[in-house]
Amino acid sequence: LESKEEFSHKTLAMDVMRPRRCDPPLSVIVQDGMSVEEVETLIAETSYSGFPVVVSHESQRLVGFVLRRDLIISIDNARQRQEGVVSPSRIFFTEYTPPQPPNSPPPLKLRGIMDLSPFTVTDHTAMDIVVDIFRKLGLRQCLVTHNGRLLGIITKKDILKHMAQMANRDPDSILFN
Ligand code: ADP
Repeated sequence: LESKEEFSHKTLAMDVMRPRRCDPPLSVIVQDGMSVEEVETLIAETSYSGFPVVVSHESQRLVGFVLRRDLIISIDNARQRQEGVVSPSRIFFTEYTPPQPPNSPPPLKLRGIMDLSPFTVTDHTAMDIVVDIFRKLGLRQCLVTHNGRLLGIITKKDILKHMAQMANRDPDSILFN
């Protein structure tokens, strides 16, 4: 991630984050109670590298971030080795797993594969600061919140694309590259 000049006119995190206004909403995982089948469908229907984990769809409170590849490996392992984990089994990212109703399959506990403190900025954070943090911490992605509610995600590629766009739009900024 090179030169910050493109951001001198104060692009904000909300200008770079996804989803855009007209995009489908962020693909998230709810921390308790999604079934193995629901999560497998989410994995099959998207190609994102990871998913934010939230308390509930209503609250959009961020709990952590889980990588796609870790989810796939853990579910595959559980299906093969863990006694009784099947499509309707519930997945829990919570510390404690509530007792399951009688005759339901055993739950799958995946708190261990979740990043409990994913990097987060607010939607009003200036992009030059976000770029600095990406560089210094070697981030691949960062989450965007407003008043504690999860709004979006910015990946390293999103930043690079945005920088390229700015360079095209504003001929002067090419001088800095
Ligand atoms: P990359 O940006 O390196 O291709 P991803 O494949 O994870 O990484 O993301 C592709 C695009 O989708 C990016 O623009 C990113 O902001 C967005 N994105 C990433 N994760 C999610 C998600 N869980 N829900 C919605 N959009 C996402």
